[in-house]
Amino acid sequence: MTTMNTVGRPTAPNTVDHDYKHPTLTGGRGLLQNEALIFEGDGWGKTGVDLPEPKGTGADLGGLVRSDPIGLPGLSEPEAMRHYVRLSQKNHAIDLAIYPLGSCTMKHNPRLNEKMARLPGFSDIHPLQPQSTVQGALELMDSLAHWLKTLTGMPAVALSPKAGAHGELCGLMAIRAAHEASGQHEKRRKVLVPTSAHGTNPATAAFVGYSVVEVAQTDDGRVDVADLAAKLGDDVAAIMVTNPNTCGLFERDILEISRLTHEAGAYFYCDGANFNAIVGRVRPGDLGVDAMHINLHKTFSTPHGGGGPGAGPVVLSAALAPFAPVPWVVHDEDGFDLIERPEGEAKAAFGRLCAFQGQMGMYVRALSYMMSHGSDGLRQVAEDAVLNANYIKARLSDLMSPAFPDGPCMHEALFDDEWLKGTDITTLDFAKAMIDEGFHPMTMYFPLVVHGAMLIEPTETESKAELDRFIEAMRALATAAKAGDVDRFKGAPFHAPLRRLDETRAARQPKLKWTAPDGSNIAAE
Ligand SMILES: *Cc1c(COP(=O)(O)O)cnc(C)c1O
Repeated sequence: MTTMNTVGRPTAPNTVDHDYKHPTLTGGRGLLQNEALIFEGDGWGKTGVDLPEPKGTGADLGGLVRSDPIGLPGLSEPEAMRHYVRLSQKNHAIDLAIYPLGSCTMKHNPRLNEKMARLPGFSDIHPLQPQSTVQGALELMDSLAHWLKTLTGMPAVALSPKAGAHGELCGLMAIRAAHEASGQHEKRRKVLVPTSAHGTNPATAAFVGYSVVEVAQTDDGRVDVADLAAKLGDDVAAIMVTNPNTCGLFERDILEISRLTHEAGAYFYCDGANFNAIVGRVRPGDLGVDAMHINLHKTFSTPHGGGGPGAGPVVLSAALAPFAPVPWVVHDEDGFDLIERPEGEAKAAFGRLCAFQGQMGMYVRALSYMMSHGSDGLRQVAEDAVLNANYIKARLSDLMSPAFPDGPCMHEALFDDEWLKGTDITTLDFAKAMIDEGFHPMTMYFPLVVHGAMLIEPTETESKAELDRFIEAMRALATAAKAGDVDRFKGAPFHAPLRRLDETRAARQPKLKWTAPDGSNIAAE
């Protein structure tokens, strides 16, 4: 079988033994050694640093002084370096290659952001320092707030939520506080959520104590406005709508959706995870949005980090602004100040969402990104993100089946598994085979409304050459799938350090505790 190399020229048939008939003797693969857990080394007595014996600091713990060894592994500096570098090589990173996870906006993290975040004036300060000594940091938070409000056309922002999902919690708590203040909380117990929504939307609504009512979707992937209108009433607290939505499509009826929502006395929560597609071009405030989170790690290029440390500021309409959680920054001619208690001008605040003021390091990075792009640059971010997704959609649609073939997409190209029918290959198999080719898979099986969904989001930071490299790999795999090369897919990945994992079991029954081998005197904590 002929395959394509990364720039699309035909190459010799693939001679790689992808069945792995000859597993290596050590478990290592191609210069990647197997790595044991850090606790499984032999270095219990070792340390990488010389610490002087403490002098004159007697323990102050009464009878609570530890008598067993603490159970921390000991590694020399090179051993510690190798351990973590080897672990990092087992994982994918945006610095290695395109990371096409739809909905996640895995864009390049500019090094300028990192440089700014490491400036001592930002990195060496403490949240308990007197405010007079951290005026620059407060000014930075104030500037970030200003630009988030400007870009969204909203009058207020709560900076402190730590992620998108936490921002949803913030937004719905503000909405609940507003209904409580107007005496309507008891009757408004429902939140309407479209079927294509991200799982965090219904989860958040349920967590805040609402019952979730699903809103249907039209055949062209948008909110069914007639169904929404039928379900809106004086028992509805809010709707949660993502725009552009999780099918990568702009909600054309968004103005009608917000009008109907407000007419029913409910609030419009917009999931702003896809703001990247419209930043600099559309202001959600002009669409009638009452609350929207902004994932700084998506649109504003801060690193994603396994749920944290992150930041998901929430912009709020005038109706919800009084209920925003503390703290927030204010200033007058004497300088900047943090309002930290729900009293005085913050007396209606619903409370506080986290310790101190939130993720300072992410604020610095996000503002660096905004300032280095400028308003024209941010507008181009959205334009290029949408262009790149449409380029992928256009170049794969002859081989794969786009879920919504009519018209352009926004910043994500969505395919279903119709084109795999009869091949015995599933979306999961296809995604795993991508790993063997050196590509992180796209988002799979989301949104749920599309069968076998493959959601590809290239972001604006991929060049045409990188997009072509990705597209050629996808085309080569799709051609192999259609030609019946089932073995290539069924057991994949063959070349990854670990083969196909039971991801469901790993998520449901995670092993979070290391148990010391029998007979060792190491405390396992
Ligand atoms: C990423 C995402 C979220 C959740 O954001 P986190 O920052 O991961 O908590 C919510 N909705 C959509 C559509 C998303 O893509």
